[in-house]
Amino acid sequence: MKTNVSEIFGSMVFNDDVMRERLPKEVYKSLTKTIATGRTIDPSIADVVANAMKDWAVEKGATHYTHWFQPLTGVTAEKHDAFISPVGTSQVVMEFSGKELIHGESDASSFPTGGLRATFEARGYTAWDPASYAFVKDGTLYIPTAFCSYTGEALDAKTPLLRSMDALNTQALRILRLFGDTTCRRVDITVGAEQEYFIVDKAMYDRRKDLVYAGRTLFGAPAPKGQELEDHYFGPLKTRIAAFMADLDKALWTMGINAKTKHNEAAPAQHELAPIYATANIAVDQNLLTMEYMKKIAERHGLVCLLHEKPYAGVNGSGKHNNWSLSANGKNLLDPGKTPADNAKFLLFLAAIIKAVDDYQDLMRVSVAYAGNDHRLGSGEAPPAIVSLFVGEDLGALIESIVDGTAYKGSKAAMMDLGIPSVPVFRKDTTDRNRTSPFAFTGNKFEFRMVGSSQNIALPNTVLNTAVAESLRQFADLLENAENVESAAAQLIKDTLAAHKRILFDGNGYSDEWEAEAERRGLLNLRTSVDAYKTFMDEKNVRLFSSLGVMSESEMRSREEIYFENYAKIVNIEALTMVVMASRNYIPAAETYISRLAETATKKRALSPTLSCALEEDLIRRLSTLSYEAYCAVEELKKEETAAAAIRDARERAERYCNVVIPVMDKLRRAVDRMEVLTAGQLWPVPTYGDLMFRV
Ligand code: ADP
Ligand code: MG
Repeated sequence: MKTNVSEIFGSMVFNDDVMRERLPKEVYKSLTKTIATGRTIDPSIADVVANAMKDWAVEKGATHYTHWFQPLTGVTAEKHDAFISPVGTSQVVMEFSGKELIHGESDASSFPTGGLRATFEARGYTAWDPASYAFVKDGTLYIPTAFCSYTGEALDAKTPLLRSMDALNTQALRILRLFGDTTCRRVDITVGAEQEYFIVDKAMYDRRKDLVYAGRTLFGAPAPKGQELEDHYFGPLKTRIAAFMADLDKALWTMGINAKTKHNEAAPAQHELAPIYATANIAVDQNLLTMEYMKKIAERHGLVCLLHEKPYAGVNGSGKHNNWSLSANGKNLLDPGKTPADNAKFLLFLAAIIKAVDDYQDLMRVSVAYAGNDHRLGSGEAPPAIVSLFVGEDLGALIESIVDGTAYKGSKAAMMDLGIPSVPVFRKDTTDRNRTSPFAFTGNKFEFRMVGSSQNIALPNTVLNTAVAESLRQFADLLENAENVESAAAQLIKDTLAAHKRILFDGNGYSDEWEAEAERRGLLNLRTSVDAYKTFMDEKNVRLFSSLGVMSESEMRSREEIYFENYAKIVNIEALTMVVMASRNYIPAAETYISRLAETATKKRALSPTLSCALEEDLIRRLSTLSYEAYCAVEELKKEETAAAAIRDARERAERYCNVVIPVMDKLRRAVDRMEVLTAGQLWPVPTYGDLMFRV
């Protein structure tokens, strides 16, 4: 394998360089225009593009192509077709037409649709997203696509994302025009997703049914050591991990993914990878590919990559920090800027975002609601389930002074004159950091920290884009009719900040005081995914998505159904796994130990009636009690699981799993974890927390 990074970087991607080199000039020009404006491709050039793509892919060793898409399962899907086309009866040629490039049709009746597609119309259609580059992986040309039904309803995560990017672009351009920008053609949404993950030894993993079926441990007493020494965070990389990471970087670079930063995270065996940001839809594709590569390359090293939000109780779980910003003419719009006009623009966009987050707290929460993420949010290691926004001390003081109409008391040294009436000067400061905030301004971008490590970032970004587009739409409607745009903008900034300042919070988001304070402020605290999903179809949310053309009511309804269904399925798998592990592994192990102890006591007594058997008796008594508790909990769990699974309505079913099944699972776990610490190590049937986290 070549190791010269600049040589391998993007070598498997049909990117701009390759297009320029391989396509006729006119075709290249037309295609790049399509990409830049987000339009659909001119059918007359499709054959030429397809053929060039095929020739290039074949040189890279491809024999197949696939339309790669993001159904609502949370993972990607692909179906491979060979390029071959028969010639006569005994020969084939490698062919790929424009039609095959642009459009695909697949029997997709097994993908979740939430009732969107009747079974008699089982076909799903894929359409090329030219703004996301095609690539070759494992002998196949991958064509990133959107996935929809016959009637054009989106069956995937990507289509609403692309629509939301368009919506935000349209509204942001209106604002830029008001500020005199006549040249910008497209406002780009930039996203960089920092990905956390755990690594575990493959042999140990294989012996844990919970990791295999549920992706997380469902049992396990704490190891003597956790993350309390803080010796893992940014610590030196273990040899095996370093080798894995090096291979991972290389693979990602080949795919044109800017894997930039890697380090150990807070919990033992936890790590992070951050890429350099990209346009939102590309960042989404790249994050999905990154997750796929993490798993695949770990296996090559005899390791398994766990992307679950909470693989182990008692130590930190994994999230994904979704860094988000807007850019126009290659300049970051969330950079406070140096000129007065830039500053006014910055404040207007900032106000739009603050308003968006406040107005759509519920949707932000829904976008990160996932059964696995419920174990993380609000448990003192990740942001609470309450959505709030952090701006830092300086910006906070500025906002306060705008709202109160008082002078801004920032440091004189770095002041900039904002130059519009009634808005004071703003000191640029980017150093504030608050790790406990769900949504933090970090100098020139926002970091959405509630996202779960395993989640597709398409939805969080779709929600953000759409909510901000709505704020900007309202702003533009008002400002376009204003006599004096500058003073109207200043007033608008002031009014918006005053109306939405309740969402701003700079304190400790992990504290109980914040929960109480948030309640006083009337902020939502949607503790579980199920609580969050229930808000999805609220009238204001339906209006938001449908009015901006991002999702229709029926597209939303189908997603709501899938959220509830998916939640119930995940908890159901966990419950069934617990039943199997407890009844077939843990209870028998405890009984074996009890029997050994009883034998020992009998033998001791036979040897000498004066020998003490107090230890055996005490252990037998305690283990017998716990083992019976576990047995009863297993029986109860079986009963409740059956009852929950039988509920027809998806929402009611999810509620039952959340409110009834999970508490029984917790009860079972408590009994088994106590059994674990009393049972002889040799007899314990699975690797322990210590084995899993420290023997990598
Ligand atoms: P940290 O948040 O740990 O301080 P950085 O600030 O370097 O780290 O950035 C973290 C992530 O944010 C990276 O993936 C980076 O590419 C991304 N990022 C930086 N600038 C932007 C931007 N303008 N838009 C979107 N993401 C960005
Ligand atoms: Mg960060």
